[in-house]
Amino acid sequence: MERKLQLHNSLTRQKEVFTPIEDGFIGMYVCGPTVYSDVHLGNCRTFVSFDIIYRYLLASGYKVRYVRNITDVGHLLDDGEDRMSKGARLQNLEPMEVAQKYSNGFHAMMDVFNTLKPSIEPRATGHIIEQIEMVQSIIDNGYGYEKNGSVYFDTIKFSNETGEYGKLSGRILEDLLTETRDNLKNQSEKRNPSDFAIWMKAADDHIMKWESPWSIGFPGWHLECSAMSTKYLGKQFDIHGGGNDLKFPHHENEVAQNIGSCGCQPANYWLHTNMLLMNGKKMSKSDGNTISPEELFTGDSPHVTKGYSPMVVKFFMLQSHYRSTLDLTDDGLLAAEKGYKRLMEAYKHLKKLETKGLSDEPQINKSILDLINAAYADMDDDFNTPRALSQLFAIVPMINSFVDGKMEINTVSKTTLLALKEAFDDFLNNILALKNDLDAGGGATTMVDGLMDLIIDIRQSARENKDWTTSDTIRDKMNELNIILKDGAEGTGWTLK
Ligand code: AMP
Ligand code: ZN
Repeated sequence: MERKLQLHNSLTRQKEVFTPIEDGFIGMYVCGPTVYSDVHLGNCRTFVSFDIIYRYLLASGYKVRYVRNITDVGHLLDDGEDRMSKGARLQNLEPMEVAQKYSNGFHAMMDVFNTLKPSIEPRATGHIIEQIEMVQSIIDNGYGYEKNGSVYFDTIKFSNETGEYGKLSGRILEDLLTETRDNLKNQSEKRNPSDFAIWMKAADDHIMKWESPWSIGFPGWHLECSAMSTKYLGKQFDIHGGGNDLKFPHHENEVAQNIGSCGCQPANYWLHTNMLLMNGKKMSKSDGNTISPEELFTGDSPHVTKGYSPMVVKFFMLQSHYRSTLDLTDDGLLAAEKGYKRLMEAYKHLKKLETKGLSDEPQINKSILDLINAAYADMDDDFNTPRALSQLFAIVPMINSFVDGKMEINTVSKTTLLALKEAFDDFLNNILALKNDLDAGGGATTMVDGLMDLIIDIRQSARENKDWTTSDTIRDKMNELNIILKDGAEGTGWTLK
């Protein structure tokens, strides 16, 4: 079956067949975190979504260069203060200490969610020269102007000459004339209110600043992604991603800077993830509608009735498409936990299934293979994880019927069973990367699983020898550890209480 990847391109607002610039290779840039505070769950949703996209592209045979930056300078707050400097001031730390501390936390959280590391993770502060060069070429091309040591991007001139400003975000320039996002203090220096700073002169007390032809200062936030994507992926590359909230001004201004400096659209496909909500509302610290990943894992929050393992949270995220909003609720998480357990149990059983294929039934084989193909087709359809998961779930009752003998496993051919095992391995280990962190579901693939298999074997031989004291002691001790041993037709399994 020929597979064709389609993705929704924010630039054209439609689904398009994906064609890479160079056959077999993909350059992908995703805006990384601003490392001035702990990573929050919304960020996690976005980075988990792009991890799945990265993993799926790899699984589809592409060689991918995945660049995800770290913003450690230039991302200003509404009052014009640099987020990093503010973090440093409040915590009495060096800005680089702040950046290191929260980069470490971010990386640890990405590991918890079982995501792959990007191919390159450049930092804005490590690319000041490239950013200064880009400002210079924007000035040389007539789209940048200097005023009192700061340099601004002339959005009106750019728009009039290229017709490109506002295309990505769908905003019209008239609406933007009131936008004053980069620095409240510098409005009078701008030719037009919608212009944005690409280089900012630093005040004397500003901590992070560098020499430049215009002033001792620092780059505008949007500039780093233009400079770093160009450096590592070239002037034009395949995919650029980020959260919806970055479409404007960040991505719109990135496009303007790239076209303004080298004359071309940086990325052919722009992908945007939608926002994570909680109980139907935007997550917000000010009205208490917020929960940290740690609180969600431990259950130490009024918003949840219990803790949920990182993989349950990830599974919950994958049950929505990355372009839909995702509403975090306790009920939703409880349901996700059930679903996740069911899927992992089935996966565990599937690994142990064997067939001789003696009474191979074409209809059964076909329905299994159709569901597998449908799951891949769903991923090819703009990475539709909820639909792909629903195909796997349609196979789960069949696996369970083979296990409890309601259906005869020999009706499945050896090739179909192998294809089914490979598809589950591929989805659960490579593409969705839902390593089992609940119970022994993954089979003897982890140390805990191996140890549990050993304990269960010891208990089994004690029972065979009628050594009830040993077998009962094992059961009781397990019980104290909140581990329940379940004896069934298929042997003994275990779950957490
Ligand atoms: P920041 O560290 O604020 O630059 O954000 C890092 C990434 O997380 C960006 O791609 C944001 O768009 C994304 N992001 C921020 N808040 C949310 C949210 N509530 N839901 C999903 N993604 C988010
Ligand atoms: Zn960016």
